[in-house]
Amino acid sequence: MSLTMEEQAKQVSVGSVNKVPMVKYTNVMKSFGDLEVLHGIDLEMQAGEKIALIGPSGSGKTTIGRMLMTLEEPTSGTIEVEGEHLWHVEKKGRLVRASEAHLHQMRTKIGMVFQHFNLFPHMKVLGNVTEAPRKVLGLSKEEANDRAIEMLRKVGLADKLDVYPAKLSGGQKQRVAIARALVMRPKVMVFDEVTSALDPELVGEVLAVIKEIAEEGEMAMMLITHEMDFAREVADRVIFGAEGHIVEQGPPEQIFENPQSERLQSFLKRIR
Ligand code: ADP
Repeated sequence: MSLTMEEQAKQVSVGSVNKVPMVKYTNVMKSFGDLEVLHGIDLEMQAGEKIALIGPSGSGKTTIGRMLMTLEEPTSGTIEVEGEHLWHVEKKGRLVRASEAHLHQMRTKIGMVFQHFNLFPHMKVLGNVTEAPRKVLGLSKEEANDRAIEMLRKVGLADKLDVYPAKLSGGQKQRVAIARALVMRPKVMVFDEVTSALDPELVGEVLAVIKEIAEEGEMAMMLITHEMDFAREVADRVIFGAEGHIVEQGPPEQIFENPQSERLQSFLKRIR
């Protein structure tokens, strides 16, 4: 079958020159009513890349993550995952999204862990982790159990399969939530301030699990965090956002040791 010139050009650029990013935001704006919280975000993540989103509260970091998880719709702009549209919203409101079936398939590439765990309280730990693989991926009970146990082992909770969430510490709950997201084998995971609701002595165990997952290397990770030491250790690139803009980005050493913008300098001064 012969290809059109356009198709050939696409194949060349995909195959050799330009790698298709895992995630790409182009001129993404988001308003809640009259409040515009993102004013045109451009952001790319490569396969396996770990980025940390830092910045003052209310600057729009969570909203960036939630749009990727399809929990919020952008007001305008485009978000692509592996070169395919997740959202495409034209400026004057005409929304073009992927079809439901396609969106469903795209969503399986993305996982998210939230500040407040969001576990199902009426299900035991194993049930919490097997629910999505069974319902969304259609795995058999046995397959889902095998996968779930493997993930619970990874987060150090293989001995808690038959326990209800209410009996777990905050750190353990959050580790279940991480296993629940991992079990879907996403290509990109959003960790949204996953330690903010924890007692300080429980923060370390959760960060250690995330660090271990990061070191495995395969998954792209978006870490929305106030833990600067953690961002520095785990992220390949740190992105500083303020007031709905990306102000500065770069390798952790540059962002933390040699911040260029006054906005980032004053942010770092305040939190140190
Ligand atoms: P960050 O994660 O940087 O703290 P967020 O993305 O949570 O910022 O919030 C950005 C702004 O959007 C805040 O002013 C917040 O109050 C507002 N916001 C977030 N979600 C909603 C919502 N569902 N309805 C109205 N306002 C919202």
